[in-house]
Amino acid sequence: MEDIVTDFLCGFDSFQKDVNPQLLEKLRETQNPKALVIACSDSRVDPAILFSCSPGDIFVIRNVANIVPRYTPGSSIHGVSAAIEYAIVYLNVSHIILLGHSNCGGIASLYTEVKGEFIGPWVNILREVKEDIDVVYADLSEEERRRCCEMEAMRVSYSNLKTFPFIHERLKTGTLSLHTWFFDLRDAKLVHLDMEQELPIDILFDTL
Ligand SMILES: [Zn+2]
Repeated sequence: MEDIVTDFLCGFDSFQKDVNPQLLEKLRETQNPKALVIACSDSRVDPAILFSCSPGDIFVIRNVANIVPRYTPGSSIHGVSAAIEYAIVYLNVSHIILLGHSNCGGIASLYTEVKGEFIGPWVNILREVKEDIDVVYADLSEEERRRCCEMEAMRVSYSNLKTFPFIHERLKTGTLSLHTWFFDLRDAKLVHLDMEQELPIDILFDTL
């Protein structure tokens, strides 16, 4: 029987053997990543692997469907917002990369009505987008609408990031840049999405 845990430990041995000792020395006391990456928890879209990063390169937040909630201080305990605050205010990263992907289980759960005690309320942040797409593209297949939703849902997180005053301020002064990228698992392409514009139909439906 495959022992995945043994594989992980072998993998760590390889990492320890190959890692640059000077880099580890530099990172021993502190980190100075230049970018915050917000990605899905999906096992196929690890940003450190996709972008060929070394330790210390990126500060990463991962959750179901790479969602950023609105800035809502004081209302509850916020893991995502705490990590965003740490990256921006204390680590002073100069880039935020919002990384979406195709065939996202989190987005699919909006269509399959997977509820879950926690998944349902979490992905509901995106429900309005899904419902709008269902109306506008009612003549398209569910698969096509879901792909469209995977991209358009990123607009919600993109807008929500700007509701954080410390992000809004840095975007205004040009000390922070916001990027929206979509990793397509079907052909391993990275698509750059301009969330300030309407997304072109050929990108939304991959008719390139
Ligand atoms: Zn996903």
